Amino acid sequence: MSRWLVAIVGRPNVGKSTLFNRIIGQRDAIVHDLPGVTRDRHYAEADWAGKTFSIVDTGGYVPASEDVIEIAIREQAEVAINEADVVMFVVDGEAGLLPTDIEIAEILRKAEKKVVLIVNKIDSEKREPSLGEFYKLGLGEPIPTSALVGRKVGDLLDVVTGDFNVSETQESDPRLKIAIIGKPNVGKSSLVNALLQEERNIVTDMPGTTRDPIDAILKYYGEEIVLVDTAGLRRKSKVKESIEFFSTVRALKSIERCDVAVVVIDAQQGLEHQDLRIIETAIERKRAVVIVVNKWDLIEKDETTAKTLEKALKGKLRIYDFIPLMFISALTKQRIYKVVELVKKVDIEQNKRVSTSELNDLLGADIKAFPPRSRSGKEIKVNYVTQVNSKPPVFAFFCNEPKLIDDNYRRYLENKIREHFRFDGVPVVLSFKSKN
Ligand code: GDP
Ligand code: GDP
Repeated sequence: MSRWLVAIVGRPNVGKSTLFNRIIGQRDAIVHDLPGVTRDRHYAEADWAGKTFSIVDTGGYVPASEDVIEIAIREQAEVAINEADVVMFVVDGEAGLLPTDIEIAEILRKAEKKVVLIVNKIDSEKREPSLGEFYKLGLGEPIPTSALVGRKVGDLLDVVTGDFNVSETQESDPRLKIAIIGKPNVGKSSLVNALLQEERNIVTDMPGTTRDPIDAILKYYGEEIVLVDTAGLRRKSKVKESIEFFSTVRALKSIERCDVAVVVIDAQQGLEHQDLRIIETAIERKRAVVIVVNKWDLIEKDETTAKTLEKALKGKLRIYDFIPLMFISALTKQRIYKVVELVKKVDIEQNKRVSTSELNDLLGADIKAFPPRSRSGKEIKVNYVTQVNSKPPVFAFFCNEPKLIDDNYRRYLENKIREHFRFDGVPVVLSFKSKN
C-alpha cells in the first residue's frame, strides 16, 4: 500500500520542528540498536485516527549560510508541492505576516495540491482575532495552533488527513520494481545510466520543472524491470541542504513503490550515518535491500581488499548485516549487471515460503537447545512455528506466554532463521501468539 506523504514548509523559527515533534509524538523515541541513527531524522511515520502517513520537515534542511536560506526555502517548497500529498505551510502568529511568507504562498498557490495554512504560536484563544491578515495569502482559512502547548493540533490533523483513504488499492504491476537510492553524489544516476546504456548527460533542471516520465524501463534478457523515479535523480541545486531534502523525499517515495531497494554507497567514504539512515528507512518499510558499493575503480586493491572492506562494512551494519553487499563501478560498468542479478535473487528470497515441517524440525531443535526464559523464571513454551506470509516473510510462533519473549530471544530466533533459510537482504517479521 502506498503511503501518504506530508511536508512541513515555512520560514525558519515559525515552529516547524516543534510541530513535527508533536505530531510524531512518542514514535521517534523508539531506541534502535544502532544508536543515534533514528534520533536526528527529519522524517518519520505518524498516524492519526488510524491513518498512517510519512511526514517530512523542511526545517531540518536549512543552510547555515544566510545568503542561500531564501533560495533553499523556495526550492524546498517547490519540491514539497511536487512530491507531497499535503503541504503544511506554517507561519508565525506572533511575528505576523512577512515578505518570505508571501513568496512561499505564491509558490504554493500555483500548485493543485492540498495546502493547509497553519498560524502557529497562537497559544491561547485570546490571540485568535489576529488571524485576519493571513487570509491575504489566498490559501483559504488559516488554522490557529500552538505547537508548543499542543493547542488545536488534533483539529489540524483532522484537516491534513481528511482525504486519506484507509483502503487504498495497490499498484498491480507484475514487473519487478527497483528503487536506486542513496546519498547525493554516490553515483545513483551514473548507475542508472550505465544500466540503461544511455550516455546522455544529466540535465540540470530546477526542481519542479521536470515533467519527464518518472520511471525508466530496463530490458533484461527480455524481461522488463522498472527503475523507479529516475527522473527524481535529475534534480540539482547548488544548496547542499536542498539536495539532501530532495534525496530524502525521493528515497521515501521510491522505497514505497519498490520491490527491492538498491542502496548505493561510495567506496571511498564507506558507510556513513546518512547511509545507515536510508537503509533503516527501507528496512522499516519492510523492503528487501541490497547495498552497492560504488566507485570501486578508485580503490587501491590487492587480493584481500574486498574481503576486508566487506567485513568492516558488515560490522557497521550490525543488526542489518543480513543485507548483501557488492562492489561495482558505474564509471567502468564493472559488475553493473550483477546488481540486477543480486536484486532478482533477493526478490526470490522475499517471496520464499518455508514449509511448516521444516521450520519446526530445525527451529524446534534450536528452541530446545536454548529455551526462552522469562526474567521471573516462569517457563515459556514455544509449541509451534509457521510462516504465515511472504514479502515480507512473517513467522508466527505459538507459545504460552508470548509477551514474555524478550528482544534477545527474538534476535536469537531471527539469527537461527537466517542460518537455516538465509533470507539474505530480506527483513523478516517474528510474531508471537498465544497457542490456542
Ligand atoms: P522552525 O525553525 O520553524 O523549525 O521552528 P522551531 O520549531 O525550532 O521553533 C522556533 C521557536 O519557536 C522555538 O523557540 C520554539 O520553542 C518556539 N515555538 C514553536 N512553536 C511555538 C508555539 O506554538 N508557541 C510559542 N509561543 N512558541 C513556539
Ligand atoms: P548521484 O548524485 O548519486 O546521482 O551521483 P552521480 O551519478 O551524479 O555521480 C556523482 C559523481 O561521481 C559524478 O562526478 C560521477 O561521474 C562520479 N561517479 C559515479 N560513479 C562513479 C564510479 O563508479 N567511479 C568513479 N570514479 N566516479 C563515479
